Amino acid sequence: MKLKSLQISGFKSFADKTTINFEDGITGIVGPNGSGKSNIIEAVRWVMGEQSAKSLRGGKMPDIIFAGSENRQPLNRAAVTITFDNEDHFLKTDYTEVSVTRKLFRNGESQYLINQNECRLKDILDLFMDTGLGRDSFSVISQGRVEAIFNSKPEDRRVIIEEVAGVLSYKQDKQKAESE
Ligand code: ATP
Ligand code: MG
Repeated sequence: MKLKSLQISGFKSFADKTTINFEDGITGIVGPNGSGKSNIIEAVRWVMGEQSAKSLRGGKMPDIIFAGSENRQPLNRAAVTITFDNEDHFLKTDYTEVSVTRKLFRNGESQYLINQNECRLKDILDLFMDTGLGRDSFSVISQGRVEAIFNSKPEDRRVIIEEVAGVLSYKQDKQKAESE
């Protein structure tokens, strides 16, 4: 499984449709302060199901929509698509290429798609669960997070280890079975 591309449009500072293709090896994103590097990472986290506007440096979710600039009107919609090569079926789906899209409109309406088929947020969260890629995973380590992990309580650290070990989905199934 490999990250192939990211398409951002109307998300934060990316008013125009912007496509980043990831080639083999390591990709570095460089640019001056305020040029949108962190916004790219936030687009990745958002499309993979982030639900906390605060953790995306906003007050409420529509704050992620391009808010306008000196010579540009605000936009009404943010859309991000992330595409993975899934030849090895690391993501549990028959698709050999998986693209996940999330859209948000200023009226608060959301749209989620997997390979252009409309789905629920839950389907996206399930797709990434136990892969080490989803929300709260360690595929994205933001500033300050390392210290937070070191300083966390043992029970919080256990959750981290369980996520890494991939037992979270079994725990959720167990909880569900117990409540039925
Ligand atoms: P640094 O090197 O300082 O970490 P950076 O490259 O990570 O900078 P970002 O934090 O990604 O920069 O980008 C910040 C810019 O994004 C700011 O100029 C901010 O005004 C702009 N921005 C954030 N949200 C929006 C929005 N909703 N609409 C338009 N611009 C936005
Ligand atoms: Mg930054």
